[in-house]
Amino acid sequence: MATASENPFLGPWTGPFAVPPFEQIAPGHFRPAFEVGMAAHRAEIDKIASNKAKPTFANTIRALENSGRELDRVAAVFWNLAGAESNDELQAIEREIAPKLAEHSNAITSNAVLFARIDDLNVSRANLKLDPEELRLLERKHLAFVRAGAALSQEAKARIGEIKQRLAALTTQFSQNVLMDEKAFVLPIGGERDRAGLPEFAVAAAAAAAKELDSAASHVITLNRSLIELFLTFSARRDLREQAFKAWQQRGEKPGSTDNRTLINEILALRSERAALLGYASYADFKLDDTMAKSPAAVREMLEHVWDAGLIAAKRERDKLQAVAARDGANFGIAPWDWRYYAEKLRKSEFDLDESDLKPYLPLDQVIAASFHVAGRLFGLAFEERLDVPVYHPDVRTWEVRGADGRHVGLFLADYFGRPNKRSGAWMSEFRNQEKLAGNVRPIIVNVMNFAKAEDGMPTLLSFDDARTLFHEFGHGLHGLLSDVTFPSLAGTSVAHDFVELPSQLFEHWLSTKDVLKTFARHYQTGEPMPDALIEKLRAARTFNQGFHTAEYLSSALVDLDAHSLSGKGTPDAMQLQSQTLARIALPNEIAMRHATPHFQHIYANEGYAAGYYSYMWSEMLDADAFLAFEETGDVYDPVTAESLLKNIYSAGNRVDPEAAYLAFRGRLPTVDGVLKQRGLVSADTKATASASRVLHSK
Ligand SMILES: [Zn+2]
Repeated sequence: MATASENPFLGPWTGPFAVPPFEQIAPGHFRPAFEVGMAAHRAEIDKIASNKAKPTFANTIRALENSGRELDRVAAVFWNLAGAESNDELQAIEREIAPKLAEHSNAITSNAVLFARIDDLNVSRANLKLDPEELRLLERKHLAFVRAGAALSQEAKARIGEIKQRLAALTTQFSQNVLMDEKAFVLPIGGERDRAGLPEFAVAAAAAAAKELDSAASHVITLNRSLIELFLTFSARRDLREQAFKAWQQRGEKPGSTDNRTLINEILALRSERAALLGYASYADFKLDDTMAKSPAAVREMLEHVWDAGLIAAKRERDKLQAVAARDGANFGIAPWDWRYYAEKLRKSEFDLDESDLKPYLPLDQVIAASFHVAGRLFGLAFEERLDVPVYHPDVRTWEVRGADGRHVGLFLADYFGRPNKRSGAWMSEFRNQEKLAGNVRPIIVNVMNFAKAEDGMPTLLSFDDARTLFHEFGHGLHGLLSDVTFPSLAGTSVAHDFVELPSQLFEHWLSTKDVLKTFARHYQTGEPMPDALIEKLRAARTFNQGFHTAEYLSSALVDLDAHSLSGKGTPDAMQLQSQTLARIALPNEIAMRHATPHFQHIYANEGYAAGYYSYMWSEMLDADAFLAFEETGDVYDPVTAESLLKNIYSAGNRVDPEAAYLAFRGRLPTVDGVLKQRGLVSADTKATASASRVLHSK
């Protein structure tokens, strides 16, 4: 057995803020640390289950909440690195450990003696004199066990265990296949001719990508989302756009070792089998039972309501783009790889607004400062950069966060730039949750993004979308940092999936405020604030191309919902299901799904968003309404509203039921009309479908 000096996971962490000692951690430490962590957790569970004393909240629920800490510590580091700074060795460990962890957690939830104690407490919960958070923890623990199959027969439990393990292996493979396809594609654009149409900052991003990859070409395009979207928006080379777009679309769909299509069919079959064992008609019924929406019918109603309006807008946009293409001399019908290119041209002609006009005003550092400023105005937070804290990659930056009273709130880590070994997309995660059960434990939160890094010595300039992504993930970050709960499993973002995007999407609203733009959107060379005329254009263009965005998002959300709504046995054909859904909703040929089934990481890389991709729009319904609460006061930083927001949403974690939390903040539930209005989808010809004002609330 290794000692603490040989394996940093076996001893205490003594560095600043007890952050993981990244410089000492090597891939070889994970396997033994996982083994030790699981063994310790098993021993703790055995002790709780075999306790001769009659079950109490303290000896069962609190003890359970306190168990598995060693395992949590290694798992937090491992999963963060597996996403943001992976390598072949970590990937091999991931494939091996994912099913083992699934087996480990299944052994706990299928422990009949342990469940009998929890069930006993749950039955008598009204008489236990628990405070509201303790009661919530008991109910959540009980529900988690029931949803994992604890109340089923031995035989059914055993089958659920097998299913979970198999799913863990399949979803890991899914994710790695997508990453491999992403890494396998590089489009060299070394020659001038290949860079036709690209503005200077796009050329710089392509140069930086080439350098990062040690490429023989001076400039390359990879499948990193921000780089390829840049290329598709500006490249005048239709042939290269087509080539890059197809590679992007075909991730996970190419015959061979990285083909995800068969994997997905098995994933879907196993998920519906598990739902059936638990007594649900479909996986979607099972999944949505524990959300704010509550049922597939409620989700479908919202999605299809917005779809009708979105489709009308998307078709109108398509006709305009076709006209732009014709004026440009094109003798073809526009294809999905043309949409962004002609949309940018149209945007320029309609609003005289060009992405490259905005970028010089959005240097990364200023956008970071803007996000900190808003957190300061709303919640009194202050951020101080720390250079003495170990990080897992030189690009990672660390800030200490303090409250208005100077108290230490937590640590905020940010990892902004794309790297070949980083999963695509943007996310927030934590190395440590806030809690009070083990003393006053302060959180360590991380934001991970994939911005294209500028060349050495140049500031990284963001697109407006990138800036919005930064605000979005920072909103999640605040949800983690401001968490004020006793029990770690109720901390921060551990809320229902259709509620978790409220703090993040709400935070995006402040980016477009005059206060933020005038103060922080300053030209990186001259320091001049963004001109009023440009801000006005930005506002006017806010609903531009929203038919497209709505259609590409909703087509993915509906394909997800349909794929997970299957009932009955047999292995489905996911690709056929996708075709059926797209045909039913009549997605225009010129628009591709935002995430097609074979690389739909949200729903197949793990269970997070399975039957839950709708959550973004559900949360949008909430965030549109929540920001209105500020606007109605005439002050986007209204202190009373901000205080209520902190109390009921950002600090509440999962202490409170989401619907109750929202009602406490706003006094009522929102309607979907706010989404239509925000996206500019309400106009004369959509009125018929879009004016029906319905309150979408759960039963
Ligand atoms: Zn989010």
